[in-house]
Amino acid sequence: MTNPTSTLRVRFAPSPTGYLHVGGARTALFNWLLARKLGGVFVLRIEDTDRERSSEAMIEGVIAGLRWLGLDWDEGPYLQSAFLARHQAVAEELVARGLAYRAFETPQELEALRLSAQERKASFLYKGGKWRDALPDDTQAQLQAGIPHVIRLATPRSGIFEWHDDVFGPLTQDWTEVDDYVLLRSDGSPTYMLSVVVDDIDMGITQVVRGADHIANTPKQVLLYQALGAAPPRFAHLPLILGTDRSRLSKRHGATSVLAYRDEGFLPWAFCNFLALIGWSPNDNQEVFATPGELIERFSLEGVSRTNGVFDADKARWVNSQHLAHHVEEKELLERLQPHLAALDIQPASSPEDAAYQTSVQLLKPRARTLVELAQMLRPYLSDSFEIDQAAVRKNVLTSGAGDFLPDLIQVIEQLDFTDLVAMETRLREFSEAHALSTGKVFNCIRTALTGQKVSPGIFETLQAIGQLRTRQRLQQALELCQTVQPAP
Ligand code: GLU
Repeated sequence: MTNPTSTLRVRFAPSPTGYLHVGGARTALFNWLLARKLGGVFVLRIEDTDRERSSEAMIEGVIAGLRWLGLDWDEGPYLQSAFLARHQAVAEELVARGLAYRAFETPQELEALRLSAQERKASFLYKGGKWRDALPDDTQAQLQAGIPHVIRLATPRSGIFEWHDDVFGPLTQDWTEVDDYVLLRSDGSPTYMLSVVVDDIDMGITQVVRGADHIANTPKQVLLYQALGAAPPRFAHLPLILGTDRSRLSKRHGATSVLAYRDEGFLPWAFCNFLALIGWSPNDNQEVFATPGELIERFSLEGVSRTNGVFDADKARWVNSQHLAHHVEEKELLERLQPHLAALDIQPASSPEDAAYQTSVQLLKPRARTLVELAQMLRPYLSDSFEIDQAAVRKNVLTSGAGDFLPDLIQVIEQLDFTDLVAMETRLREFSEAHALSTGKVFNCIRTALTGQKVSPGIFETLQAIGQLRTRQRLQQALELCQTVQPAP
């Protein structure tokens, strides 16, 4: 796992929470883009040290999210829990070298320290205490008596630390504000701070890209790199993701699991494209990136913004609509559409290779924002049970004199060549003229009889997509309706 060369090595290191949330997905995406752009290695490491929250199902949730997005990793998934013994050994080594120390305060003692800080209106900061400079014999006696203890890092007592963040630029930290934080808990379990640094060193990570909520951890972690004699990686922190009301993104703003967006009918690459725009932009403000390759080429950390990004579900649907209309390959579209059709109980009468199915999808896809919307729109094209807008039927069928012209129209339809759009148009215009009807009246009647709705794509394309047989049947049904229903006055 060590890195003998200077190849870029990045990682996505989620704590499993049962699903991949959009913030994590954006972090994974930016790491992946960087690795793919610079010929680097993208490592997946699941930080599963919190045993209670790390069941196999929770890990699977994260992996399923990454797989759906198409963010493939080159190494891993490593499970952090596998390196427990190594983390413990590192903590012990730091104690042996005098860089960390055992602290034996009881929870009650710590609470008393906290309360006394509160009384002084100061914030509690554990620095030094009585154990950092305790005599070795005192520490040894406690240890032998089996008194529970933690291992803390001895952090600098004074001074200012300066570092460079690849997004936020020069940053500083006053060491007097940094506590002697815990590396190993009293039950022997390592903290996030210890595990993340040891693993990043062992896995040869050269660039850390993660959420801005980790900026404050960075100087603390750099101390550990120094203590362990390892060169710290570069750090780049990504701006936080807010909801449209500018508060931190949460379930209140809608789904936060990426798989919920799969279920809402997003194309995975379109969703990645949308995520990339949260906190990043290219210098020319292009927003739609047709393929992963196009975005990889344009992506760089320079384009990452320092201001918080906004998760705007309407924007997500717009980006998705652009991919549906212009960029997704037909084969992928048909495949991804299938489960949404099945969920609506729509069975294309024939296979996805069927020309009528493909024609309908091509016709409707520029009008849909999601695959769910597309599946709903496809209903009258692929099945005989579809929603009817009664107001449209009243206006375009029942009160339009259709009962008089439908018998002739049905005859014309029976003789029409459905493969020839131009001939269809000519013939139907002739029909309108011959019956002294406006084309609007005839076309709207056909449209509503065929789709149950007021609006549809171009009428000739709609006829073609629905096909001659179904068109004839639906016009016949419209005629029967005219003959049996008395329109309300
Ligand atoms: N497991 C940590 C998290 O999910 C990783 C943070 C980091 O990238 O260092 O927040």
